[in-house]
Amino acid sequence: MTSIVQLMDSDEIAEAIAVSAMKMVGEYMGLSSAHIYITNIHDNTLMDIMAEWYAPGIVPRFDRSRDLPRYAFLSGTKLQAISSGSGVISAQWQEEMDNLGIKAMVVVPIRSSDRPAYMYACYDECDHERFWTVDEINFLSDATRIVESIIERRRYEINIAGSFESVRASLDNVGTSIYVREIRTGTLQFTNQTMIANFTSEVKYDKTEDRPLVRIFESQIPEDSDSGCIEIYNPQRDEYYELYYSHIIWMGQSPSLMCAILDITEKKKNQKKIEQLAYTDFLTGLYNRMCCERDLAKFVDSAVSEGTHGALLYLDLDDFKHINDGLGHQYGDVLLQAIAHSFTRVSGVEETCYRMGGDEFVIIIPPDSFSEMDRIVTDIKAIFNRPWFLKDADYYCTMSMGVVTFPGEGTQIQDLIKKADITMYEAKKSGKNKVAVYNSEMDSQSNKRLDMEKYMREAGRNGYEEFLVYYQPIIDIQLDGTPCVGAEALVRWDSSALGFVSPADFIPFAEYLGLIIPIGAHVLRKACETCKYWNEHGHPNYKVNVNLSVVQLVQPDIVQIVKTTLEETGIDPHNLTLEVTESLAINDMNKMKEVLAAIKALGCRIALDDFGTGYSSLNHIRELPIDVIKVDQSFVRELASDSYSQAFVRYISQLASIIDMSICVEGIETAQQFDVLADMDVRMVQGFYFDRPLPQEQFEEKYL
Ligand code: C2E
Ligand code: MG
Ligand code: MG
Repeated sequence: MTSIVQLMDSDEIAEAIAVSAMKMVGEYMGLSSAHIYITNIHDNTLMDIMAEWYAPGIVPRFDRSRDLPRYAFLSGTKLQAISSGSGVISAQWQEEMDNLGIKAMVVVPIRSSDRPAYMYACYDECDHERFWTVDEINFLSDATRIVESIIERRRYEINIAGSFESVRASLDNVGTSIYVREIRTGTLQFTNQTMIANFTSEVKYDKTEDRPLVRIFESQIPEDSDSGCIEIYNPQRDEYYELYYSHIIWMGQSPSLMCAILDITEKKKNQKKIEQLAYTDFLTGLYNRMCCERDLAKFVDSAVSEGTHGALLYLDLDDFKHINDGLGHQYGDVLLQAIAHSFTRVSGVEETCYRMGGDEFVIIIPPDSFSEMDRIVTDIKAIFNRPWFLKDADYYCTMSMGVVTFPGEGTQIQDLIKKADITMYEAKKSGKNKVAVYNSEMDSQSNKRLDMEKYMREAGRNGYEEFLVYYQPIIDIQLDGTPCVGAEALVRWDSSALGFVSPADFIPFAEYLGLIIPIGAHVLRKACETCKYWNEHGHPNYKVNVNLSVVQLVQPDIVQIVKTTLEETGIDPHNLTLEVTESLAINDMNKMKEVLAAIKALGCRIALDDFGTGYSSLNHIRELPIDVIKVDQSFVRELASDSYSQAFVRYISQLASIIDMSICVEGIETAQQFDVLADMDVRMVQGFYFDRPLPQEQFEEKYL
């Protein structure tokens, strides 16, 4: 029995083991022969022989092993022991035994675990009569059970081996790289052809210290995860993979890890392209708001973790709407594209320029470039110092910029963007074409602005009576006697809630809100009424200058408003001068010419205000129907000391007289400044040296 049990360790195939077992049992029991028959499951009249053994001297019974006529005694599911002359068997059985010369036999069915018995072990005694003892029968039964289990296991293993081959063959032919590693020993149990082809050296060097497969793939597998799929980037090869991993019992033997690696680099790259599209602003090719928020989060994180700094610049073009309205959208688009392109050429921020929509841009100064922030801001400003050639002429466009740094002023993306936006608005409010740097007061200023809007609208409900008109005398220095020839009307807001607000503080905001339109109309009416009063009270030639905002001028009904005001106040149109600023004249040339010509046709005069600070070329002076050029205060400030300012004023005054315009110099504060003007061809001046803007009564007390 021990010998039979040892057959379990045999490497032989089931048939060979069965033969050995039959031999052992036969010899031990002193039998004549022992067989294992297999009945044919498809045709139950046939049988095969799996194993046969004959004692020396016994003639083998069969000349072949397959498709033999089946013995009648190969039936039943119980052991049958036939001792000599037992007489309990069928006639057919007896006949078969007689034909075979069998004197006694034991038939033991061999059960297969998953189907009815169809194998039988037959132990024969042909030499002499034999009577089986219980011990003998038990031994044969036990021996057969052992053989049975060996055969069954062998068959199973053979099946496995067969399926292993087919698994290997099919796995070899798939495009996915697959390998199996035994967990206990760490050895590679299987690598398919695709794996070997794609990861030749990784497989080859698997046993080295580097363990490339572990490094690239297995180390990324989350602990405690039995199976799943993860994405892996391999920087050495710049490749992306999907790794499907699963803990399995490989070929029924040992716990192993199976890895299937799908190269998704191509897919990833396409995905990136699509992402790129989603992150790109279609018009300018810059990145868009979504991308800005994503990148900003990244930069803020790295600034926080590395203790560095970065900055967010929020830019908004000044008066872009007028270019769009004046030239048409296609030229507005060209301008946006040209500006966007210029941004990407500023060194240090080439990759971090974004269009947030409309005429708003964000530029992030990443921590790497932060030390160069001043230079970068200067470079960006310089972009707007030169004109853009659009349609058929040069156009200037300025921008207002808000600067906020991180992480100092915030780590929340939306918060930072909002702060930069508020700061940009501060820049815009302080007169456009400016850069403002965020400070914590700006939040409260932003709140103040909300208050201001509320009170401004409230003032509107009371007919704008809170908006007072002050008058600053305009002096003709070539006249003797009382040289006042009129006044510039300057608005003041005497707010019941906010106190006295200067125009510099509320006009840009009123422009932004569009409230400058009713406020401006109110000032125009008041000024015309006042001037009419002066004209009727001894000064028929006193003139009044009224400032018109860009926003008012682009209103389609501006000419009608001026006309109605002239009619209703009864002022002599020749005594009304409307002051417009240069920035407007440049951006909207054709429309401007048209509007100004129509206003002039009403009999009014036009003054070009703040000359020298804007961006108009002298060409514009010639093209526009202008009567008066108002030289900006900034030239006067330096007039006593700076020869350039002197030359500029002299040149403009000469030019003006040649083309039959007059010139008015603003902001004279000192006698020295006034003296310099004396030998120039300047007639009209304005300034604190003569008088400040005065309330109507004070002006009239003095000049009426
Ligand atoms: P502006 O049209 O150039 O007006 C001249 C500004 O210079 C006035 O400031 C005036 O007070 C100031 N000024 C006059 N002489 C001197 C001087 O000798 N030294 C100095 N430092 N300043 C002098 P204000 O009244 O604060 O107005 C500022 C700006 O607000 C004006 O500049 C004008 O652009 C705008 N503004 C004022 N009133 C109105 C208005 O009714 N409508 C519109 N649209 N804008 C207005
Ligand atoms: Mg003015
Ligand atoms: Mg001015």
